[in-house]
Amino acid sequence: AEKLELVAQSIRSFPDFPSKGILFWDICPILKDPRTLTAVTDLFEEHVRKNFPQVELIVGLDARGFLFGPLLSQRLGIGFALVRKKGKLPGPTVGVAYDLEYGKAEAEIQADAVAPGQKVLIIDDLLATGGTLFAACELMKEQKAEVLGCLVVIELKELKGAERLKPNSVYSLVQH
Ligand code: IMP
Repeated sequence: AEKLELVAQSIRSFPDFPSKGILFWDICPILKDPRTLTAVTDLFEEHVRKNFPQVELIVGLDARGFLFGPLLSQRLGIGFALVRKKGKLPGPTVGVAYDLEYGKAEAEIQADAVAPGQKVLIIDDLLATGGTLFAACELMKEQKAEVLGCLVVIELKELKGAERLKPNSVYSLVQH
């Protein structure tokens, strides 16, 4: 509870960013304080060890999933793979298109990043509508990986992203 408090206190919001009418949740203060970053990693690690001890790979989303994912995968003694925006990864890649609030986007992973049957957890900083994590789940399905669940620091409850991701589970540290 102390760790959760520390994390919750380190999240701030900015109105009208990146555009008018949007409230942007900012996780940067978590990284500024090493105790808070350790608390985030501890909380994720405890949850994964308890609920998903069979996990074989952490998959992180561009870009803030890259901040938390490798710390967790190191703790667990497993690997980390990057899901990136289109055109950023070298070599053979596989991609999936998905809808954004305005327009479309495409997420990619290197073709050899995930093995068929591999048990993965997907991590990002924030769950809003769930479109981004849903696309990553689809990408994992295409690669014949087994998604055990999703991990996020912040969940924006009223956008019902967790509903969209069903039957995959979402674990969030802080809810707004
Ligand atoms: P979704 O696809 O609607 O769930 O949006 C989640 C994605 O957008 C994640 O990759 C987040 O990093 C990013 N995102 C959306 N809203 C925010 C925010 O308020 N703060 C930080 N990231 C956000």
